[in-house]
Amino acid sequence: MIPYGRQDISAADIAAVVEVLQSDWITQGEMVPRFEAAVAAYCGAKHAVAVNSATSALHIACLALGVGAGDWVWTSPNTFVASANAALYCGAQVDFVDIDDKSYNLSVAALEEKLRRADAEGRLPKVVIPVHFAGQSCEMAAIHRLAQQYGFRIIEDASHAIGGCYQQQQIGGGQYSDITIFSFHPVKIITTGEGGMALTNSAAIANLMQRYRSHGITSDRAEMASRPEDEIWNYQQIRLGFNYRMNDFQAALGLSQLQRIDAFVARRREIAARYENEFADLPIITPWQHQDSASSYHLYPVRVRESRCGINQKTFYARMLQQALLVNLHYIPVYLQPYYQKMGFQPGYCPVSEGYYRETMSLPIYPRLTEDEQSQVITAVREMMPNSLC
Ligand SMILES: *Cc1c(COP(=O)(O)O)cnc(C)c1O
Repeated sequence: MIPYGRQDISAADIAAVVEVLQSDWITQGEMVPRFEAAVAAYCGAKHAVAVNSATSALHIACLALGVGAGDWVWTSPNTFVASANAALYCGAQVDFVDIDDKSYNLSVAALEEKLRRADAEGRLPKVVIPVHFAGQSCEMAAIHRLAQQYGFRIIEDASHAIGGCYQQQQIGGGQYSDITIFSFHPVKIITTGEGGMALTNSAAIANLMQRYRSHGITSDRAEMASRPEDEIWNYQQIRLGFNYRMNDFQAALGLSQLQRIDAFVARRREIAARYENEFADLPIITPWQHQDSASSYHLYPVRVRESRCGINQKTFYARMLQQALLVNLHYIPVYLQPYYQKMGFQPGYCPVSEGYYRETMSLPIYPRLTEDEQSQVITAVREMMPNSLC
């Protein structure tokens, strides 16, 4: 079975993990800070906070920006549920901004329109979470301009996008946002098994996220509440936090994977270029790229429009599966999930996102996908399409 995505683990990765397992510190040692420093340097950000998942990173990012009851957080419906759930963990309310029909990212035009209405109604968002879908950056300069105008903060959900670029800069540098988060789940660009990271250029935000990651505890005397001189606590809990820590063998794996990130992304781009080329004469719609963006190609979503292709998404899925090609759907609009429907969201709320969801299928793309396996995918797609554009 060929999946849509999977990890690439080398002998060096395994050795790096084993080395930590044989050392004194398998958690809270030196590997986590080393991995954080390496990712921060790679992305051009000042601070990085490693955690046990991108979901945790989104949660502490929202908390660090002060998201709480009575606040609104807006995100894209075309994402994994975690992007929206983070706001709910903080007691805030979530709303969705429809996507652009070409990039499938949060639409700047839809955002601007929604902000204008929200401003009139006095319910502007505190935070907007643009999601860099499939590895392609959102139009961050424009979103940043709107943030200045309407006074909201920005968390980039770059779970798909480490290794990608926007305006020639690595995603994660934080030029246009307050915090950027990455996921290191095995299907993502680099992996720590489970894991995530939050990057920021603000020392104050980094400090808050470090506290939230580990029980709200500090061992910095300057942060401690006043207490009698003879007390010798080496730590104090100063707020309510969580245990969201990454351990040291995960960080060692991440650090080892990071050495190959550019090769991973180059390989993904090569596969995407081959698909693009091979499908050029077919009626399926291949991913469009914005001129400011160089995608990391976490996903390769194609649109199977029945009126053009003669088959629909379900048939496409079934025929691929018959040939052991496990394509996948990214994503059902978050607000169509039963949990969100119960909150009152109705079908039709973000029509572009819904139209996209009924046609999209993510083809296999990952560094270890061989030429032969790519050919299997290409042949399977070609065989079920009329081979001319209508
Ligand atoms: C994978 C993913 C997450 C969650 O990542 P975890 O590390 O599994 O918690 C969040 N947002 C998006 C867009 C994702 O793809």
